[in-house]
Amino acid sequence: MVSPLHRGPRLASTRPLSSRPRYSPRSTFLPFAVPDLGDAEIAAVTRVLHSGWITTGPEVQAFQQEFAATLGVKHAVALSSCTAALHLGLEAAGLGPGDEVLTSTMTFTATAEVVEYLGARTRFVDVTVEDLNLDPARVREVIESQYVRRDGAWHHREGGGRLRALVPVHYAGHPCDMVEMRAIADAYDLFLLDDAAHALPASLDGRLIGSLPCPTAFSFYATKTLTTGEGGMLTTNDDAIAARVRLMALHGISRDAWKRYASDGTWQYEVVEAGYKYNLTDLAAALGRVQLQRMDEMWTARAAIAARYDAAFSGMPEVSCPMVSARVRHAWHLYPLRLRLETLAIDRARFIQELRDRQIGASVHFIPLHTQPFYARRYGYRAAGFPVAEAEFPRLISLPIYSRMSADDVDAVIEAVADVIEGHRR
Ligand SMILES: *Cc1c(COP(=O)(O)O)cnc(C)c1O
Repeated sequence: MVSPLHRGPRLASTRPLSSRPRYSPRSTFLPFAVPDLGDAEIAAVTRVLHSGWITTGPEVQAFQQEFAATLGVKHAVALSSCTAALHLGLEAAGLGPGDEVLTSTMTFTATAEVVEYLGARTRFVDVTVEDLNLDPARVREVIESQYVRRDGAWHHREGGGRLRALVPVHYAGHPCDMVEMRAIADAYDLFLLDDAAHALPASLDGRLIGSLPCPTAFSFYATKTLTTGEGGMLTTNDDAIAARVRLMALHGISRDAWKRYASDGTWQYEVVEAGYKYNLTDLAAALGRVQLQRMDEMWTARAAIAARYDAAFSGMPEVSCPMVSARVRHAWHLYPLRLRLETLAIDRARFIQELRDRQIGASVHFIPLHTQPFYARRYGYRAAGFPVAEAEFPRLISLPIYSRMSADDVDAVIEAVADVIEGHRR
């Protein structure tokens, strides 16, 4: 089937480039990601600059309240990054040396590096072929086959540590099966921390990611669905976790004691822990407040792009569109197209280069972490443990999907993909 968006007849790949129907590449490069910032964001940041208070203050307070209200969660703690949120989330769970954390191999290194910060160990698990999210069956299998129950905890059979936590990731913005993840966490007594760097706004069974019964980390990095340049948020309904994260995010300094006992305690504080410097600035929060108001509008634009891509690419047998479960609202942070390599004469790297030659930026999410030198060296993972990630990774291409894209931009991506396929069909 030839999609209506695909212009011109399909021709056999044996034809030389010059005889194919005229493909006119863009004159300007379409970047893979561009933040959607307008006059309202600029005005908000300017207002803060004029105010004389640029670091953590009233804007951060307001951003936290508005974020929590939007998601329907009790606490939202603004932080300097999602990495900080993940780190403090695991810290709040009391994770330390000798502890182990299960997470997906199809994620960014931030998800796993925070485990290493705490001196704990990462155990990567394979994903499902449908959504490339942590495979619940595989998680159970790994626990049952690699861990033994002893002294009220699950210990790794090969002298590793105690299994303490589970960190699912919502790959590309497609929610992971958090019902299953919660069930696993309950069954094996694990702390559940949600890496929702891609999942704003996303929902599972009608419930927003970030309001589920587990602490959740969001990213406001430049390429994410809501940006503050750099920034993050940890949401939770748990008072103790929120309090611990707030304390550790700003040097482990507590003002609570002095608030209680001193009439004028503005200069008083107590250092109760060796904390971190993970606070968000008011400049960033002001930007975030405007972006939060525009969150649904930006999502609608991305969802429309995804629908347009789906309509076009479902008619091209050389590629597979992302699968979307009927239970979810996809955040559409990424649009990971999968190449059917057996139908093409080129590999994924060449495909990306061909797109680049046609002025289209593309990327790859992610190089599975078990193959990265640090984790491979430290843990000695074998490919056999990750059949899905190993098979899917070489076929993945993330196409541009952001609210600043025009209809012409979207068509240009579709036409470039079609043109690369036509020139390189096997
Ligand atoms: C971007 C990202 C992070 C880190 O976010 P920062 O805000 O840059 O720290 C963590 N996890 C995943 C899956 C990401 O894509």
